[in-house]
Amino acid sequence: MKAQPQASHFIDGEYVEDTDGTVIESIYPATGEVIARLHTATPDIIEKAIASAKRAQKEWASWSPAARGRVLKKAAEIMRERNRELSELETLDTGKPIQETIVADPTSGADSFEFFGGIIATAMNGSQIPLGGDWAYTKRVPLGVVVGIGAWNYPQQIACWKGAPALAAGNAIVFKPSEVTPLGALKIAEILIEAGAPKGVYNVIQGDRETGPLLVSHPDVAKVSLTGSVPTGRKVAGAAASQLKHVTMELGGKSPIVVFDDADIDSAISGAMLGNFYSTGQVCSNGTRVFVHKAIKETFLARLKARTEAILIGDPQDEATQMGPMVSLAQREKVLSYIDKGKAEGATLVTGGGIPNSVTGEGFYIQPTVFADVTDDMTIAREEIFGPVMCVLDFEDEAEVIARANATEFGLSAGVFTSDFSRAHRVVDQLEAGTLWINTYNLCPVEIPFGGSKQSGFGRENSAAALEHYSELKTVYVGMGKCEAPY
Ligand code: NAD
Repeated sequence: MKAQPQASHFIDGEYVEDTDGTVIESIYPATGEVIARLHTATPDIIEKAIASAKRAQKEWASWSPAARGRVLKKAAEIMRERNRELSELETLDTGKPIQETIVADPTSGADSFEFFGGIIATAMNGSQIPLGGDWAYTKRVPLGVVVGIGAWNYPQQIACWKGAPALAAGNAIVFKPSEVTPLGALKIAEILIEAGAPKGVYNVIQGDRETGPLLVSHPDVAKVSLTGSVPTGRKVAGAAASQLKHVTMELGGKSPIVVFDDADIDSAISGAMLGNFYSTGQVCSNGTRVFVHKAIKETFLARLKARTEAILIGDPQDEATQMGPMVSLAQREKVLSYIDKGKAEGATLVTGGGIPNSVTGEGFYIQPTVFADVTDDMTIAREEIFGPVMCVLDFEDEAEVIARANATEFGLSAGVFTSDFSRAHRVVDQLEAGTLWINTYNLCPVEIPFGGSKQSGFGRENSAAALEHYSELKTVYVGMGKCEAPY
């Protein structure tokens, strides 16, 4: 199986190679096979990409917002037409089952281009401020060159969620995908050119944790938008702050799902499974601490165990497969070591806990795992595992569960399952998180803002709110009379 792109980078509207960069092997997680070899960007490639973005941005920003919007909407249309091909590539890049990628990856990227392409015609409007004779007006203007840095769990979606609002607002972008999933973003760059974007407004360069800092500290970069872990976020935000650059930080989490005793249990189990097992558990907003009221604990666990053991694990290219492998061997090792810690620290293993027997070969498969009787102090309840490991914790009292749910440095997401609507709103009001769900979990349509609080980051993606993070206000005071001075 091969997925070799024409070249490693996409700069100024075309594929570019520089074999001086260190080799990145793209590995298909279901077999361990190398499916492409690319190179990290050399300093020369980085200069070329940023220079191209800088050049292109001025012209792009001079287009009317509606004209920019037309390009983005066209890109959305092309992505939808090519959904199968893009989804197959996403499956090769990440190992996620085609059943998921076909509905969740390029489609969500296309939603983003369509949404920002649609709203931008009016979203850049400023205001007029009367001052009694004199007056002022504001303009919403792009920031300039934006750097996007992606994680490996949603490579195409991240490339679009950063690209769409950045481009809509009139910026140009240099996007660096994760070194683990280098393939998808190149296709997005190609599609934008096909849709009529000027060369250089959307560039993709490959690289790793050595390359990222060179982009972040480049003097021509006005803003950095990162999707990644908290430790990386601290480094990137620190480097950006030292040059007073704008930042968006979409970081990790250890989010709570609270299931009250009056909840629809099957619905709550669906939410907990979606929020722990989708994308083999590699989702930042996952609700990995599932607080279940003691009165329903046994029923909840019995049904959860049966449904978890029925998940079809296997070949991601088989439409019937519901769970593929983890993205890499290293990530699986990390998750298995957390499972060992869970066992050692005394949590009850309800199901899973190892490598499935049902799949053979070199793929990075792992069993969906549920621990019960997890306590707040256990490592598996405190640290982000980023794999299909659900921790079920007991509770009895509303105030107690809110305090425990909030007792974490993270604040990305949270969920509540209850049939009492006043309780639902009272509880979400007190949970410390950026994105919350009532009686569902992990749904992130483009219309709603998405992002974290506390150590999970700042800034928002999606919705009109994202545009505020890719533009700034320019205020113009208009003096209508003679300029008076006391001197
Ligand atoms: P990571 O932090 O290891 O890497 C993220 C990206 O940052 C990669 O492209 C990497 O090359 C780059 N990078 C690493 N060090 C850098 C540095 N010093 N300067 C600049 N760039 C640097 O994360 P990952 O392992 O790829 O992804 C998993 C993490 O991402 C998890 O913590 C997960 O929760 C988080 N995540 C968050 C969201 C969100 O929207 N909040 C979405 C997906 C993933």
